[in-house]
Amino acid sequence: MKRESTDVLVIGAGPAGTVAASMTNKAGLKTLIVEKSTFPRFVIGESLIPRVMDHLDEAGFMDAVNKANFQKKFGARFLKEGRVCEFDFSERFTNGWAWTWQCPRGEFDTILAKEVEKQGVPVRYKTGVTGVTFQGNQSEVIIENEQGEKSIIDAKFIIDASGYARVLPNLMGTAKTAKLPPRKALFVHCKDERRPEGREGWMITFVVHRVDIWIWVIPFSNGVTSIGVVGNPDFFNEFEGTDEEVIRQIIEQDPNYRDRFRDTEFLFDVKKLEAYSASTSEMYGPGYAIVGNSVEFLDPVFSSGVMFATESGILAGKLAARQLKGEEVNWEEEYEKYIQDAVNVFATYVKSWYDGALQDVFFVPQPNQGIKHQLSSILAGYVWDKKNPFVRKHDSLVYTLSKFIREGKMELVTS
Ligand SMILES: Cc1cc2nc3c(=O)[nH]c(=O)nc-3n(C[C@H](O)[C@H](O)[C@H](O)COP(=O)(O)OP(=O)(O)OC[C@H]3O[C@@H](n4cnc5c(N)ncnc54)[C@H](O)[C@@H]3O)c2cc1C
Repeated sequence: MKRESTDVLVIGAGPAGTVAASMTNKAGLKTLIVEKSTFPRFVIGESLIPRVMDHLDEAGFMDAVNKANFQKKFGARFLKEGRVCEFDFSERFTNGWAWTWQCPRGEFDTILAKEVEKQGVPVRYKTGVTGVTFQGNQSEVIIENEQGEKSIIDAKFIIDASGYARVLPNLMGTAKTAKLPPRKALFVHCKDERRPEGREGWMITFVVHRVDIWIWVIPFSNGVTSIGVVGNPDFFNEFEGTDEEVIRQIIEQDPNYRDRFRDTEFLFDVKKLEAYSASTSEMYGPGYAIVGNSVEFLDPVFSSGVMFATESGILAGKLAARQLKGEEVNWEEEYEKYIQDAVNVFATYVKSWYDGALQDVFFVPQPNQGIKHQLSSILAGYVWDKKNPFVRKHDSLVYTLSKFIREGKMELVTS
C-alpha cells in the first residue's frame, strides 16, 4: 500500500477543518486535509453569527469571503403570534463584531477550502478516512479514494473535522447520545420572486409556529431563500403527503410568509435531518483532537453550529501546533473545558427556547434594553464573557425572568 507522512492530518474540509489547518500550517507544520466529497457540496448551516468573523479573520479568510458579496446579517428577528422581537448585533453587551453573513454553505465552504489551499495546505478531495491505528504521536491513518484505492498516511497529529460523519468518535466507539431530546428538520432552498424591497426582503427571521416548532427564513444575496421547519418529530406526523407537501402546508399555515412563498419553486428535493444532536465522550487524546460537529452539535435554533466549528477548529489547531513544538498542553483545561463551558451556555438557551421560558423573555412587551443587549451578545456568540449575567448565570436567569413574567411581575423585567 502507498504510504506517506504528514505532521497534521485534518479529516474534512468544512469550516472546522479549514480553520484548524490554517492554524497548524501557519505554525510551520506540514498539514494535509482529506475530504470525502467534492466541493461545492451541500451542507446546512447558513446563518452565521458574529463570533465567526473573529475566526475567519484569524485564519486569513476574511478578504476572500468579503468578495463573495454574501448577504450581510446585522441581527436576528423572532416572530410569535403577531409579536416581534428583534436583536441588533450593534447593540450588545460584549465588544466584538456587529455583523456577519447569511449564505449558502456550499459556496462559503468552497471559498474557505480554496483559501487554505492558497496558504499551502493541500486538500485531497474524494478521499475519505476509513480507519485509524492510534499510536500517540505517530498514528496510521487509512484513506480511500473514489477508485477504492487504499493508502496509508502516518500523522503526528489528527484533527477530526468530519462533521455529521463523526469519523473518530465512531471508529473509537465514543459517540454519545445527545444532551437534548431528538428533533427533526425539513428544509429547502426556493426562488424568492416575491421578495419585498429593502430590509423586509433580506431580514433573517425565526417564526415560532408553536412553542416547540419554529420556521427559519434565510434570504441569500442571490435571490434564493432557505426555508426550514424544526421541532418535535411528532408534529410532522400531523401532515399527510411527501416532505415537499408537508413543508408547503406548514408555510401555508404561517400568516407572515404564506403569500411570499405560496407555490414558490423549490430548487431541490426537500431535505430532512432527524436526531442530529450528538456528542462524544472524548474530545481529545494522545495525538488527536475532535472539532466542530464531530465533537458536539446541539440544535440549529441560535445558529451556533458554525461558530462552535470554527472556535474549536482554531483552538485545536493552535494547541496541536504548540504540542508538536514540544510545549506542554493541558487539553482538559485549555480545550475541553473551554469549549464545554460555552456549549453549556448555548444548551441552556436551546432548552429554554423549546420549553417556552426564553420565548417569554424575548416577547415581553417593552423589554428592558440592558437585558436585550446581554442577550444580543449571546446570540452573537460571545458566550465566554463572564461579565454578562446571561453567561455567568445561564442556568437560572432566564427561568427567573420567565417566572416573573408568568406571575405578572413585569416591572422586574421591563424598562
Ligand atoms: C437543521 C439544521 C440547521 C442548521 N442551521 C445552522 C445555522 O443556521 N447556522 C449554523 O451555524 N449552524 C447550523 N447548523 C449546524 C451546521 O450544519 C454545523 O454545525 C456545521 O456545518 C459544522 O461544521 P463542521 O466543519 O464541523 O462540519 P461540516 O461542515 O459538516 O464538514 C465536515 C466535512 O467532513 C467531510 N467528511 C465526512 N466524513 C469524512 C471522511 N470519512 N473522510 C474525509 N472527510 C469526511 C464531509 O464531506 C464534510 O465536507 C444546522 C444544523 C442542522 C441539523
